[in-house]
Amino acid sequence: MTVPAFADWMSQTNDVTEVFLAAGQIPDLINMAGGLPEPTLWPVAEIADLAARVVHDDPAQALGYSPIAGLPALRDAIAARFSTPDLPLGRDNVLITTGGMQALDLLGKVLLEPCGQIAAQSPTYLGALDAWRPRAPAYRPMVLGANGFDPVAALRGAAFAYTVPNFSNPTGRLVGTAERAALLEAARQTGTWLVEDDPYGTLCYDDAPLPRILSLAGTGGAYDGPVIYLGTLSKELAPGLRIGWVIAAPRMIAALTTAKQGSDMCTSGLCQMIALRAFEHGLVDRIQPQVRDLYRSRRDALCAAMDRHLSGVLDWQVPRGGMFVWATARDPRLDTDGLLRVALEHGVCIAPGSVFDPLGVDRRSLRINFTLNPPDRLVEGTRRLAGAISACLAA
Ligand code: PMP
Repeated sequence: MTVPAFADWMSQTNDVTEVFLAAGQIPDLINMAGGLPEPTLWPVAEIADLAARVVHDDPAQALGYSPIAGLPALRDAIAARFSTPDLPLGRDNVLITTGGMQALDLLGKVLLEPCGQIAAQSPTYLGALDAWRPRAPAYRPMVLGANGFDPVAALRGAAFAYTVPNFSNPTGRLVGTAERAALLEAARQTGTWLVEDDPYGTLCYDDAPLPRILSLAGTGGAYDGPVIYLGTLSKELAPGLRIGWVIAAPRMIAALTTAKQGSDMCTSGLCQMIALRAFEHGLVDRIQPQVRDLYRSRRDALCAAMDRHLSGVLDWQVPRGGMFVWATARDPRLDTDGLLRVALEHGVCIAPGSVFDPLGVDRRSLRINFTLNPPDRLVEGTRRLAGAISACLAA
């Protein structure tokens, strides 16, 4: 597709995710919009070998239907991986899901009444907004870290609260330990479920990871707390496996399992077996340093290019992990929804802030991905973006 044809098609679709994915098909367009990982990081030969072996050695588990909540051995492996002395987890604390996305969908089905209320860290992951859209929820945006933010007031009466504390999508922001503790305390005080969505926790480039809110919720006994933790192999291994997990109180796992039965019956046994072996053989842990090193260097390349081409035009903070830089226009005349089309004409695609705003009103921000492109493309993409911004402001 040519850029003008793409821009025409784009103006007729409301599906922004489709736009980001389709942008990758346009020759010479630099796609800095999506949240896609670098494919060369996938350990292809090892995964192919594990796949062949599990099909051959255990066809009944790999190719048959699996238990709805997931293969017991994989549930046990996840429970062991996330247990701490204060947080002893068992199999009944774990549900295997078809990617983290399915967990978000199931939570909407289990917890949300039509037009119910969600206290969501704002801006919010687009996929979560998409998952919950059919219930037409009312959002209480939580701007964590803002002066005067009162977690108890935000959570009271909400169906649940949603946060991505590690290098959030879209902002790359890291929620501090005190803020994590305050959210947990508010969840306890108000009896509101607190969803901790954590796809980016291992992608930390500058510091040691902060404690998960889930770990802070451990009391030393069997886990029955208010935190519903969501994990995924999409960033740690490969998104095509579609392996995610929920760690929660057994009654929540039971409710989500019932919902999963009516959704997809079970997650692929083949992919669960590959995931299990990948954990057992240490493959998941072995590739993390490589993933972090590559993404850190790409973050640095993008931020250096932004310093060169965009300082004075946009404001941003260098993210300490994750996949995204979040930037805000200094000039209020710059409408980032409008910028997307002009940016496409300049050969670069970015994600406008409005799609991540639960209230849909943000026109000043944009999200830039740095994991998919090598440094030279990030530099060129930034140069093109600067050109597009100048063109918008000159119009
Ligand atoms: N939550 C957040 C915040 C994400 O950014 C993503 C992926 N982009 C997901 C959940 C879902 O990922 P997956 O379904 O691939 O596990």
